[in-house]
Amino acid sequence: MDQPTVDEKHWPRTCPVCGTELEHATLDFDPRNEDRAELNPGEMAQVDYCPNPDCPTNLED
Ligand SMILES: [Zn+2]
Repeated sequence: MDQPTVDEKHWPRTCPVCGTELEHATLDFDPRNEDRAELNPGEMAQVDYCPNPDCPTNLED
């Protein structure tokens, strides 16, 4: 049986491009939401991003 090439059980902790440790941010789609740590499914999402300004993933502009 085939093994998946990407193990989704292991969330990447570092940037696959430059190796910098990823930072986390919460995107709030509803500006009326109070500024709180609680995550509202459907309105907010948590994302990982590379904080390295020299990383190719940040040079698409
Ligand atoms: Zn990077």
